[in-house]
Order: sequence, then C-alpha cells, then structure tokens
Amino acid sequence: MPDVICLGEALIDFIPFESGCPLEDVTAFRKAPGGAPANVAAGLSKLGRPSAFIGKVGDDPFGRFLANTFEQNGVDVSRTLFDPQYRTGLAFVSLTAEGVPQFMFYRNPSADMMLRPEEIDSQFIHSARAFHYGSITLIDEPARSATEAAIKCAIDGGLLVSYDPNLRKPLWPSLDRAKEQMLAAMVWPHVVKVSEEELAFLSDESDLSEGSDKLMSAHPNIKLIAVTLGADGCYFHTAQAVGRIPGFRVEVVDTTGAGDGFVAGMLSCLLELVSKPDEIAGLGEDDLRSTFRFANAVGALTTTKPGAITALPCREDVEKLLNS
Ligand code: ADP
Repeated sequence: MPDVICLGEALIDFIPFESGCPLEDVTAFRKAPGGAPANVAAGLSKLGRPSAFIGKVGDDPFGRFLANTFEQNGVDVSRTLFDPQYRTGLAFVSLTAEGVPQFMFYRNPSADMMLRPEEIDSQFIHSARAFHYGSITLIDEPARSATEAAIKCAIDGGLLVSYDPNLRKPLWPSLDRAKEQMLAAMVWPHVVKVSEEELAFLSDESDLSEGSDKLMSAHPNIKLIAVTLGADGCYFHTAQAVGRIPGFRVEVVDTTGAGDGFVAGMLSCLLELVSKPDEIAGLGEDDLRSTFRFANAVGALTTTKPGAITALPCREDVEKLLNS
C-alpha cells in the first residue's frame, strides 16, 4: 500500500542539450519523464517512502515510457491510466544560463487532461496516509472534477493533504483566472509549497511572512506553508514557528524538478513526525528545521543532474550531503 498518493499530470519534458539559449536556437533535445506530481511520487519512492501516481497518459510510446519509468523508480502505477484517444502531453524546455527552465507545452488536449471523476478509486485513496496534488489538472475538465473528487476523498479519509500550486502561465486562459483558481484550491490542503514568485503572485505581498500569513488567514485549513527560494533554500511558516533554512552549495546543471524533490523530502519527513494532519500545526521549530534541511538537500541534489526523475536522489545520497 502506498504511503503517499500523488495526482496530476505526467508528461514528457524535452530537455535541451544547450543551456543559456532560447527555444528558437536549441538544436537538440533529450526526452525526460516529467510532470510535477509524478516527479513527487518518484522522489518519495526513491527516498524509500512507498508512493503511487494517479493520472492519465496516452496509449502511445511516450505514455508507456512514462509508466515504465515510474514503475522502475518504485512508484505504484496501478492507477496510472492509458487514454486510447488522446496523446501524452509534451513540454519543450529551454534553460537559462543558470539552469532555470522555461516551458512550451503541447497538449491540445493531452491525455493528462482527460482523467474523469468516475475513474477515481476512493478505496485506493483511503489506503494511503497523504495525498498530494498540483494545479495543472485543475485547469480543464474533466480532469478538474476528477482532481476535486480525489481531494475530497482524501479529506474524508483523514489523509494529510498537500498542494503545490505550481504556476505555469502559458496553460491558463489568463493570469486572473490562474490566480482565482489556484487560490480556490487552497481551501483543502494542510500543507502548501510555493516558490517565492508564486507566493507574491497569490498573496500580492513580496514579504515572505506577510504573504504566508495572508494565505493562512484566508485558508484556515492550511497548517504549514513552505516557500522555496532556489539556491537560498527555503522559508517555513506555521501558526507557531517561522524560519529560513539556507540552501546547500552544489554544482547546478538543471533545476527542473528541484521543487518536486523538495516536496518529496518535506512530505517524507512530515509523515515521520505526525500521525494526523492537524498535528502539523503543533510541530516545534527543531522538527521543522530538520524537515526543511532535509527537503533542501533533496532539492539541491536534484539540480546536479539533467532532468527531474533521473536526478532525484536516493536517501543515502541525501544523508551524505546532510552529513558533509
Ligand atoms: P521550484 O522548482 O518550486 O521553483 P526552487 O527552484 O526554489 O523550486 O527549488 C526548490 C528547492 O531546491 C529549493 O528550496 C532549494 O532547497 C533547492 N535548490 C534549488 N535550486 C538550488 C540551487 N541552485 N542550489 C542549491 N539548492 C537549490
């Protein structure tokens, strides 16, 4: 049985061989498995935490490649479905000189958008301890209703619910709609992970503490907000404790998936510390500091190799960095 179920998009990232040039000038790409929630599932499994991925891929070579890759990384793919009609979504990536990815998507529509509410297996969700989702499957129907059905099922089952709003501007009809819908999905989670830019976008505050406060006051179910700060590490915020944890110094190749590795590390630690979601609110500063030091280490190691799933570290590598 999985400890954590991740629901959302799985797609192919085409990673450029060259960094520091726009898509127009990239000459060659390498195919890499991607999609934030699928990356989180693989990250958890690599850390030794049983995970499953709920989502849809096309019944095509790319979809089979994704399902095989998740399975090879230990992810339960029994609820990863193949759509006979729609193809696996693709994202072409360009990397800035610092390894920061920008995405161009091919999904008109793609299989990940086609997950239906009746395909959600509530018994399967109730068998897990935590449920993680993003905002991409909240953009279009029927995946939107399927995502909401699964979240409600996770809440009914008493699971720890985690959300990464993960702003991908080109996928939304407008930025106003993106903000409205990403905020609407904050009524459910106990834990939210955002980047610094996403926090500013969603809260209209550039200050980390004020922005987190604002989101938590408007969504009383949220017990913990984690803000990722790239090379600078992260910031955490609960009703009782706030803190900044510096990042690890590593040689960066490609930051794709760093945030997903970070989420995997964070959830893995939280499941060791709490048996019920509400206990997160009472976690002490020491526990939160060690959780986010671990999450930073997973994120940092994910940047040291190209791609996301391929770069996600195993527990031994994380411990080596933590002890270095
Ligand atoms: P996201 O992918 O959500 O935008 P970030 O790029 O901020 O997230 O990365 C997530 C986490 O990965 C950071 O909080 C940090 O711990 C780690 N990380 C990211 N970039 C670097 C880097 N250049 N050096 C060290 N750690 C990094």
